[in-house]
Amino acid sequence: MELNLYHLYPDVLNLYGDRGNVLCLRRRLAWRGIDVRVTELPIGASDSLAGADLVFIGGGQDFEQEALLEDLHRGKDASLRSAVADGVPVLAICGGYQMLGRYYETHEGVRCDFVGAIDLWTVGGARRMIGNYLFRCDEHSGGMEVVGFENHSGRTYLGEGVQPLGRVLAGYGNNGEDGTEGVRYRNVFGTYSHGPLLPKNPALCDRLLLTALERKYGVRELEPLDDAAEQHAFEEMAARLRH
Ligand code: GLN
Repeated sequence: MELNLYHLYPDVLNLYGDRGNVLCLRRRLAWRGIDVRVTELPIGASDSLAGADLVFIGGGQDFEQEALLEDLHRGKDASLRSAVADGVPVLAICGGYQMLGRYYETHEGVRCDFVGAIDLWTVGGARRMIGNYLFRCDEHSGGMEVVGFENHSGRTYLGEGVQPLGRVLAGYGNNGEDGTEGVRYRNVFGTYSHGPLLPKNPALCDRLLLTALERKYGVRELEPLDDAAEQHAFEEMAARLRH
């Protein structure tokens, strides 16, 4: 078995070591003897996402989100829309998550028209939402608790019928108002969680991998791994946040 993993904008969207998510996905596949081919699509790359089995997009500051707009609208936007519609699993973090929505209006009033693959939008606020946080994924995304780190001024709102990835247990999440965190749309997992997210949340990593392997090969279950160290990291932070 082999997965084609596409890493979109590794050159500009890589806050707080978001690239570590790609390493984690690769490593957990390798431990199970599954091959992975990683294709990076930086600004200027002309490849489309055709043939992608999994897509990763990291986060970025307002500046970087504005800097990539021209390139995004030269074809990567359409390519993302069709990958999402085809059910390709996508993990999108913070600025990358916002980018899959309709638009982001920054606190300074700059409007970034984004991909529009999902009916959600983001509005910049005066207060930054910063800190370690904890949320629980909704049942259809696995039901597991997830620890992460958020730092955004954007407040994201989900359109009618669009489901969040989960509910905030401690922290801000999508907007600090409605208790939702992230989005789960088709096979897109969007979240505000930097960190990187996956090394300390192996259950979520495996959920993504299983979604990709099931879609491509009909795999129903992953070989379990010894996650003692990862679970320990997760528990350590979750316990601090749960009180
Ligand atoms: N620039 C966006 C915001 O502040 C995203 C930031 C990020 O990716 N951490 O909302």
